[in-house]
Amino acid sequence: MAETLVRFEGVRKTYGGTAAAVVGLDLDIARGELLTLLGPSGSGKTTTLMMLAGFEMPSAGRILLEGRDIAHTAPHRRGIGVVFQSYALFPHMTVAENVAFPLSVRSIGRGERDERTRKALAMVRLDGFADRRPAQLSGGQQQRVALARALVFEPPIVLLDEPLGALDKALREEMQLEIRHLHQRLGVTMMYVTHDQAEALTLSDRIAVFEGGRIRQCADPKRLYDRPADAFVAGFVGENNLLPGIVATREGDDCTVRLACGPVVSAQAVDCGGVGERCLVAIRPERIAVAGVDAADLGERAMPATLQEAIFLGDHVRLRLGLGDGGEVLAKRPTGIGTLPEPGGPASIAWPEGAAFAFRDAAKQG
Ligand code: ADP
Ligand code: MG
Repeated sequence: MAETLVRFEGVRKTYGGTAAAVVGLDLDIARGELLTLLGPSGSGKTTTLMMLAGFEMPSAGRILLEGRDIAHTAPHRRGIGVVFQSYALFPHMTVAENVAFPLSVRSIGRGERDERTRKALAMVRLDGFADRRPAQLSGGQQQRVALARALVFEPPIVLLDEPLGALDKALREEMQLEIRHLHQRLGVTMMYVTHDQAEALTLSDRIAVFEGGRIRQCADPKRLYDRPADAFVAGFVGENNLLPGIVATREGDDCTVRLACGPVVSAQAVDCGGVGERCLVAIRPERIAVAGVDAADLGERAMPATLQEAIFLGDHVRLRLGLGDGGEVLAKRPTGIGTLPEPGGPASIAWPEGAAFAFRDAAKQG
């Protein structure tokens, strides 16, 4: 087990009289890991980051950095690097002066300052840009300067709040890999905030999924995708069909569910109630086999469906299939295999044993 660098213990944050922005947060960050806070807008990610940085005070609970309670440590004494979406570079300073700034305020001598600045700029591949002003750089380059500035004083942890939010898609994806490689190379601990699940999957050692000021699940990307803990995580991380139904039978971790659209399906009961309770059956679009595409005959597990729409997306086709009585599923198949059924015509679908999960239908239980 890696050493714990940061610990949130029962941390809660209420702004004024409003509902709590963060509700009883317990979270450990291990030294050297890249942990992402992932969640929709307003779920409490920035509030959590600001409390660790020291710009907001918890209303209750404790935050420990290297085992010490930092409640009374001013932000600049926590020695934490922070990168925001808006680059917050000093426009009148050169790139090198911007990066050197945290060293200047720490009264580090000229020689060492120049050397560390040069190294930090090389780290983010901006060697030739030391004398430019921020306005003479692209968005991606400005964000790399902000990153160099956060890394230059070798903080124990760097916090990044939607740092790529202002960049276009191609540059964002390039920068995601760059941050990931930088993290791997330097071994610096990072806490990264994003609402973009693909970004979280790309970057993270572990992801804490936030909703309504709570962590719904904290796990590595593969586990989060393969074994979501509840319907929210199942729907938020990757694509999922979430089909409403009623638990028909339940035996330990196995159940069958009568879907609202008619069929009875078997599922793994991850977090669902007993017989008669409402639930959602989650099934990933890429797990749904379609007759004609995957095999001529899908065997006895197949259920009848109607192909409503097929959208060609180059490497894969997205198939919208009706399941009777208003039910609908999305299937995703690689292109170039088999023959698609005719839109409007009958099709049948099936998924492997164990691919469907049943979750409590939180929305329906108020
Ligand atoms: P996220 O970063 O996940 O979008 P935030 O932590 O910014 O979420 O916000 C969580 C909740 O706290 C939201 O309901 C937001 O409106 C509220 N909130 C955030 N900052 C403040 C503030 N300074 N004053 C009052 N409410 C705030
Ligand atoms: Mg935010």
